[in-house]
Amino acid sequence: MTTRRDAVHDTLRRSEGFRSAQDVYAEMRQDGAKIGLTTVYRALQALADGGKVDVLRTDDGESVYRACATDDHHHHLVCRRCGRTVEVAGPAVERWAEAVGSEHGFTEITHTVEVFGTCAGCSA
Ligand SMILES: [Zn+2]
Ligand SMILES: [Zn+2]
Ligand SMILES: [Zn+2]
Repeated sequence: MTTRRDAVHDTLRRSEGFRSAQDVYAEMRQDGAKIGLTTVYRALQALADGGKVDVLRTDDGESVYRACATDDHHHHLVCRRCGRTVEVAGPAVERWAEAVGSEHGFTEITHTVEVFGTCAGCSA
């Protein structure tokens, strides 16, 4: 499964902007990959859960994906109108998450933080 996930990740990395699972699936089939749509969906979901891809929900409820510019842990600032996504670091959030976790005796702390708003282009 890891190799298929990598193949999906690579396909997404070669794409500009956000692509749906259908788009990724069609492109992989075109390249001769023997992969099912369900597998593509699952791989994209796993990549999104692992913070390797950005995922957005379009107005008609479809999820679209984009490979993150970095594999390092980061956060997203997302425009809720046009879907523009900026990758941001949050040192204060990292410290706070660690502190609040250890305060309660938790280890292996992880977190997901997405910040939503209206981008400069949309509010102009
Ligand atoms: Zn990202
Ligand atoms: Zn916008
Ligand atoms: Zn973080």
